[in-house]
Amino acid sequence: MTLYVYKFGGTSVGSVERIKSVAEKVKKVQDQGDQIIVVLSAMSGETNRLIALAKEIQTQPTEREMDVLISTGEQVTVALLCMALHELGCKAVSYTGTQVRILTDSAFTKARIREIEGAKMRADLDAGKVVVVAGFQGVDELGNITTLGRGGSDTTAVALATALKADECHIYTDVDGVYTTDPRVEPKARRLNHITFEEMLEMASLGSKVLQIRSVEFAGKYNVALRVLSSFKEGCGTLITYEESQMESALISGIAFNRDEAKLTITGVPDLPGVAYKILGPVADANIEVDMIVQNIADDATTDFTFTVDRNNYQRAKAILEESCVALGARKVTGDNTIVKISIVGVGMRSHAGIASTMFKTLASEGINIRMIATSEIKISVVVDEKYLELAVRSLHSAFELDQIAEEA
Ligand code: ASP
Ligand code: MG
Repeated sequence: MTLYVYKFGGTSVGSVERIKSVAEKVKKVQDQGDQIIVVLSAMSGETNRLIALAKEIQTQPTEREMDVLISTGEQVTVALLCMALHELGCKAVSYTGTQVRILTDSAFTKARIREIEGAKMRADLDAGKVVVVAGFQGVDELGNITTLGRGGSDTTAVALATALKADECHIYTDVDGVYTTDPRVEPKARRLNHITFEEMLEMASLGSKVLQIRSVEFAGKYNVALRVLSSFKEGCGTLITYEESQMESALISGIAFNRDEAKLTITGVPDLPGVAYKILGPVADANIEVDMIVQNIADDATTDFTFTVDRNNYQRAKAILEESCVALGARKVTGDNTIVKISIVGVGMRSHAGIASTMFKTLASEGINIRMIATSEIKISVVVDEKYLELAVRSLHSAFELDQIAEEA
């Protein structure tokens, strides 16, 4: 007997019709004699609707009350799914995070799971019931309702799969898997049959929003095999696991990009110990996250320092830098908020030289100027002008033959 955890996202439970078809899918698992725990999101748009309601009353509601509010969407869908299952003659029982006891810390709106009590769910499964759990929510030690951050139902699913030692964790969503890049930018993007946790983490942090990042971290840590599939279309989706030796790995698995970048440069900074700290300290103190950082070698006892931030923080970061410029006796501050970051990701590049040069050659042949470069073990990122985004992604996609990947049926 296999134990499955199936998670359905907001669009998959976005209407009564869709909830009924989720019930059909779940019933099949039970009919074949396997056990299943279902984790649900709220109906699509519901969490946003609740947040908007709150904002009509208070611009800064307390996070505790926000969690009481936004956790309600999932309570609706789990109850409705159980009713749909009952209608099909299936035994099923729904639980909120508090009822299961998904114990979290008390960091409202971004809580972390500490412990899951499995006994009740186990007993239900053994009694032949489908267990339906509200995603995205938990309870702290004092009994306060908490939520796990936007997209947190993915993390609930992985955490339940870990706690109950499920054999497989399926994430049903509105796309049929993880793609080599965003198909809206490159229509020739291919669905990946397989991707490693590491690659998925890079892709997710670079802006492919298929799964909540934390769920991928969690799955990697506890080695839960995750499969991302479409609720609407048949297919095997994308399996996310550790690298297997027999996996003939493509050099590159995907191209991720982020349109929300801006860069700032401070030039003529006296090249002294502590300068990086003096520049970035005030930025960090203002809670502005810094992404790429480049400092070049000084020749005249001064140095230039460039870093990127989210575009939303551009003006604030620039103002802070202008103050630092005066304080440090540096030359000037320049910036650009019309840049994007494009990254190629793949565990295959570990063992292959020449990936970077292929990337740079491809961009050069399109006349695309590279503003910044950063690398890690399985990723190479470049910053280019935003007008080149589509061209860069498409030319890299074909240079690395990502359009040749065969999708398994
Ligand atoms: N309903 C929550 C959200 O919209 C959690 C989730 O869907 O995963 O963020
Ligand atoms: Mg989601």
